[in-house]
Amino acid sequence: MIKNRISYTEFSDWRFDVLKAKDSFIWKQNRKKLIDFTSGWNVINLGWNNSEITSALIEQAKKNVYAPMWSADPIQNKYAEALTNSLPKELYVVGRATGGTEANEEAIKTARSYTGRKKILGFKDSYHGQSFGTLALGYLPEYIESMEIAPLVGDFIQMDFPKVYGKKVDQKKILSEFGEKLDDLLSKKDVAAIVSEAGIITGWGTTYVAPDGYLSLVRRLTKKYGTILILDEVGTGFSRCGKLWGMHLENVIPDIATFAKGISNGAAAIGAMVTTKEIAEKTFWKSNLVSTFGWTPIACAASLKTLEIHLRDKIWEKSEKDGTYLLTKLREALGNSPIIEDINGIGLEIGVHFVKDGSKDQILKIFKLAEEKGLHLTGDNGDANIQLMPPLTIERDVLDKGLEIFISVVKSLR
Ligand code: PMP
Repeated sequence: MIKNRISYTEFSDWRFDVLKAKDSFIWKQNRKKLIDFTSGWNVINLGWNNSEITSALIEQAKKNVYAPMWSADPIQNKYAEALTNSLPKELYVVGRATGGTEANEEAIKTARSYTGRKKILGFKDSYHGQSFGTLALGYLPEYIESMEIAPLVGDFIQMDFPKVYGKKVDQKKILSEFGEKLDDLLSKKDVAAIVSEAGIITGWGTTYVAPDGYLSLVRRLTKKYGTILILDEVGTGFSRCGKLWGMHLENVIPDIATFAKGISNGAAAIGAMVTTKEIAEKTFWKSNLVSTFGWTPIACAASLKTLEIHLRDKIWEKSEKDGTYLLTKLREALGNSPIIEDINGIGLEIGVHFVKDGSKDQILKIFKLAEEKGLHLTGDNGDANIQLMPPLTIERDVLDKGLEIFISVVKSLR
């Protein structure tokens, strides 16, 4: 039902007006103060309205707010240098974008243009954006059907994500079966690129985790068959998964990496595609990576400050420590719950999967009960998963309070 002039997704009953937001808290229109366990879905990694980032943005706004596509403001060059310096040295050239969807589209264009191949491989139930191309990567065909937006872009193929899920799993078996399938798919040497997150699906709300060794295996097979590895770091990046970048989890170097979300800590729209000199030199003049609002100077100033804070405060160390703590506490308290199928995650990106049967309403019920007690949650009710992703700067007592609320709400449902 249309309730106001902004369109919302399936959680329309759940939407609310943010009256105020600061650090790890948000205030709803009824002035209720809530602990935030969402970070606006991996955007606000350094806490809501981080004052250092706001100041950097304001200072830049006093100097210059725009530079056209055929030019660069000094802050854009400065940010390109800082971003690439924080990555493995092979990742050297930046494509400017306004967000994750556009960065991924740039990556796919670049991969096709570089390899001369057409096929793009993605994983079912992963999320890489809302354009026709990025939808084709991970949206299930039946979902596209229900959206009534077909046809999507041609030559996109999907495979199952090798998930470690449930109580008794054999990680090695999952990995080797996946490896065989991937080897088979890539061996025809007609796949331009594989698009993957760094061993966890953060974007869709499924929070599936891949077995250890996944990233190295994908890197080895893509190299073997000349397929470009595009690592979507939109959710895994900016310290979310206990490392500055998801690629550091197994120290792989992709051919292309894409960034958005936590990039400016929510202060401005910006995304980035980063690739090697060799790939850029062979493609940049034909793949046309332009974006009117990609990398505005104010977005770059906010992003530069965001990256500086991650590096200065080694935010990933806290993310790793708090993530392990949260996962352990959740498994201790809820691991045997009859309504929970799986609790898993990497860093401060943790999924609590509920038994699917009839759980559509259950997820919303948990959201509502948690909110009554002062905790804001989000997730995916189709997959019956609540994805816990608190700001990485959250204080331990606030984390504990949120955890206590979450556990007591889930226990009350048994
Ligand atoms: N990739 C991932 C992993 C994401 O989570 C998202 C957004 N949820 C996107 C890409 C698309 O980013 P944007 O919404 O900035 O276009």
